[in-house]
Amino acid sequence: MTTQLAWFRNDLRLADHAALIAAADRGTVAALFVLDDETPGAWKMGAAQRWWLHHSLVSLSRSIAERGGRLILRRGRAGPIVKALAAELRAEVHTLVHHEPWAVAQEDEAGTVTRHHGTTLAPPATVLSGTGGRYRIFTPWWRKLLEQMPPPRPRPVPDLRWADVGAISSDDLASWALLPTKPDWSGGFRDWQPGEAGAAARLADFARRAARYDEARNLPSVEGTSRLSPHLALGEISINTAWHAIADAVGERVAEPWLRELGWRDFSANIIDQFPDHGDAPNREAFARFPFLDDPAGYQAWCKGQTGYPIVDAGMRQLWETGWMHNRVRMITASFLVKHQLIDWRLGERWFWDTLLDADYGNNAQGWQWVMGSGVDSSPFNRIFAPVGQSAKFAAAGYIRRWVPELAKLPDDAIHAPWEAGVALIRAGVKLGRDYPAPIVNHEAARARALQAWAAVKAA
Ligand SMILES: Cc1cc2nc3c(=O)[nH]c(=O)nc-3n(C[C@H](O)[C@H](O)[C@H](O)COP(=O)(O)OP(=O)(O)OC[C@H]3O[C@@H](n4cnc5c(N)ncnc54)[C@H](O)[C@@H]3O)c2cc1C
Repeated sequence: MTTQLAWFRNDLRLADHAALIAAADRGTVAALFVLDDETPGAWKMGAAQRWWLHHSLVSLSRSIAERGGRLILRRGRAGPIVKALAAELRAEVHTLVHHEPWAVAQEDEAGTVTRHHGTTLAPPATVLSGTGGRYRIFTPWWRKLLEQMPPPRPRPVPDLRWADVGAISSDDLASWALLPTKPDWSGGFRDWQPGEAGAAARLADFARRAARYDEARNLPSVEGTSRLSPHLALGEISINTAWHAIADAVGERVAEPWLRELGWRDFSANIIDQFPDHGDAPNREAFARFPFLDDPAGYQAWCKGQTGYPIVDAGMRQLWETGWMHNRVRMITASFLVKHQLIDWRLGERWFWDTLLDADYGNNAQGWQWVMGSGVDSSPFNRIFAPVGQSAKFAAAGYIRRWVPELAKLPDDAIHAPWEAGVALIRAGVKLGRDYPAPIVNHEAARARALQAWAAVKAA
């Protein structure tokens, strides 16, 4: 019986895992995870997601141990580590396909690896136009993807016979120091439950609310979305499982707006598969000339939620505290950084990367390039989100009270723009500049400045 090495990456689950299933079918299984900060070009996992990774690996190790096996942990450049371990065990290697450029490089360096589809709804290269070309715009791509949907039903954890890995060394997870210590800033993460069981519980909870997704998803004050993103980012639940659970719960027609969001995740994989440097390079060449400002103080104010715009500050503080931010507010905060503050989208992207529990190279790059207007499929640059208008339109008063408590006593109609609140501000006992910042930019002036900058770039 041959030994089969199941190489786990950001797919930390046992259920519906095609590489594990293939390994189990063919022989006795050894399981490996490598913490790789060394493959050239790799975006090192950010600090918040490392916290998640620690707990997710504890959970996966436990699930494997309960079945009589052991998860081998190694740290270093993944390709050579996998190759050496495969040689030592005389094993065939199986892994799921990932689309980050460094994931592709890892496989190239790992020797003979059988790659299995299983991180997206469909392999990106199979969604092709009538003439065989790849898509770069979401809507026609989505229509084409739907021809392959629904995806296959998820498969259960296979029966596993383990290879004897008693003599194989494994790192002690604690030695990786993935958890913050001095100071420990992870207190606000306590409501999350990393791991496969936590992902299943989150999905079951959302299935009960999914019928209301379309009406609630844009309202940051409401728990309207699934919050599955950190689980999906590390692959604790398969995308097919997510699709079918919600389609079964509410019917495919009602589920469509949510399934479409899963589609955006696949679309991001499709984009980075075609543009591996999407995280650094604007797709539209003109944006390489954009006159971003060098404004460290402004950037700090944005990161820390001190811009004086309540919806922006609420979002940035939610992110810092909980490792997650509502999608509508991600768009507002990102737009504010690049258009009101004229700060390079890549700085915002890096901050998100470090602070998001759901950091995902493709989704993050796609989100930022969409907001900037520099992506192949993106919002036009001159669509500038008005933070106050957005805040009022999407009824964010409750959300602001939760994350910007200095303003909690302001009435709903005043809380979106405290500098215009007049007596309400006095009654609430808030003094701008003392209790809460005055706005760091004026909306109209910032908007005009951004449009001018863009006009100059286009004219050049
Ligand atoms: C500037 C910016 C940066 C972003 N960075 C990330 C990131 O690093 N990681 C990440 O997973 N998402 C990112 N997003 C997309 C989106 O905001 C999150 O996926 C979503 O808020 C996660 O919450 P949820 O799980 O409750 O989503 P739901 O609304 O319940 O959606 C279900 C799932 O669909 C996927 N999804 C939803 N919206 C999008 C989208 N716009 N693009 C791609 N996939 C989507 C996610 O996997 C999500 O978990 C970013 C968006 C913006 C505007």
